[in-house]
Amino acid sequence: MIFSAEEREELFTRELIPLFQELIRNACINDGRVDSGQEVKSANTLQAYLGRLGLECRRWEPQPGRVSLMCDLPQKSGRPTLCYMGHTDVVPARAEDWKHPPFAAMIEEEQVWGRGTVDMLCWTAAQAVAIAAHHKKRSELAWNLKYLALADEESAGTWGARYLTENFWADVACDLMITELGGFYLENGLGLCSLITVAEKGVCWLRLSWKGTSGHGSLPYKSDNAILKAAEAVQLLSRWDSLESQDPVYLQMKRAFLEDGKLGLDDIDRGLAAFLHTAGHTTLSPNILAGGTKANLIPDRAQLTVDIRFLEQDCPGGTPANVIKLVQRILGPRLAEDCNIEVLDFFPPTHTNLEIPALGRIAQILESHYPQAKLLACRIGGVTDGRFWRSRGVPVLGFTLFHTDMGIQDYSERIHSANERISLSSLARCLDFFLDFPVGEAP
Ligand SMILES: [Zn+2]
Repeated sequence: MIFSAEEREELFTRELIPLFQELIRNACINDGRVDSGQEVKSANTLQAYLGRLGLECRRWEPQPGRVSLMCDLPQKSGRPTLCYMGHTDVVPARAEDWKHPPFAAMIEEEQVWGRGTVDMLCWTAAQAVAIAAHHKKRSELAWNLKYLALADEESAGTWGARYLTENFWADVACDLMITELGGFYLENGLGLCSLITVAEKGVCWLRLSWKGTSGHGSLPYKSDNAILKAAEAVQLLSRWDSLESQDPVYLQMKRAFLEDGKLGLDDIDRGLAAFLHTAGHTTLSPNILAGGTKANLIPDRAQLTVDIRFLEQDCPGGTPANVIKLVQRILGPRLAEDCNIEVLDFFPPTHTNLEIPALGRIAQILESHYPQAKLLACRIGGVTDGRFWRSRGVPVLGFTLFHTDMGIQDYSERIHSANERISLSSLARCLDFFLDFPVGEAP
């Protein structure tokens, strides 16, 4: 323990709280448009904070206002690099749905309220304070520390993680990355687990289009109606069942969520069941259906957009072509034949090796705070910016320490939702974690 309780208290109150509040108030709202986000506000905040301690930052701005920031502590050769990575953008919020204004960062009821508090400004702020504190203290660490505060995570990372990893890999490469998401707790008959993301499913968005023959709506007999093809596809895709995964990450999650086989999926909360189900199955969700122009016109065109989250087992090789083959197989030859398939977005599945010593180190920190808690490695159905590093071979872990008041349901009710908030105790645990992780041996 390099930092005493008094020093932690001081860092928490005088540095973390004001920095965290300023990041929330900056309201870097990413609505998917290229000129939204304006993460330059939070890049400036972080650069000013780190600069006061003599730390230099590097900035990238691939589009006006879309600034990502990097800060390296002075490096010692021969040491591996540990990168703390956070994003500064947040999703929109409708103020009328909130108990406290979403961008005021009010502290009420022992909680900090605001958009981004759990996704993921608590990481972004605590990581910055931790690296600054180690710098100020001239801590002897086994790691070289790097910090990234990225733009555009909430819209596929185009102007942040994707841009940096594709164009500046040598600058942003590292030997271990710690980022979102994880740290929330699952508590049931088996005890208490804190979840850590080690793997993400593949994602593939496809737009399927069918042609038909237009005609008068009063004469449907044996008509060639494009909507009927799309509707049939909706049924086939949504009813398709993938095989249940047999890989160790999923099986361990299943044991933990279903209390060692005592429960079934239908016995647990729907949100928990969906979290577990997606970890062990390829899923296809038909999410946009479009077709037809007029009530009395048989449509000659229909389009269906499908959100596919896939496991390696169902799409060996993890390429777009193999996902398309899977979809064609499900549709069958008749529907597949005249279906045109466009790939709108694609990223292969990624996973981190479970043998890395960092997992043991994290389990140790967790147990030092909550001796009854175990670490549970998870695969998530969603994606984070971590995938850009994981796909290039960097071990990436989604984790921070929270107080046990952050249950998995609390977390999932808050993320991207109204009344997003974090307790002061959970925020303090985040800081503890990022202060303590790099102390001690590196692999
Ligand atoms: Zn996030």
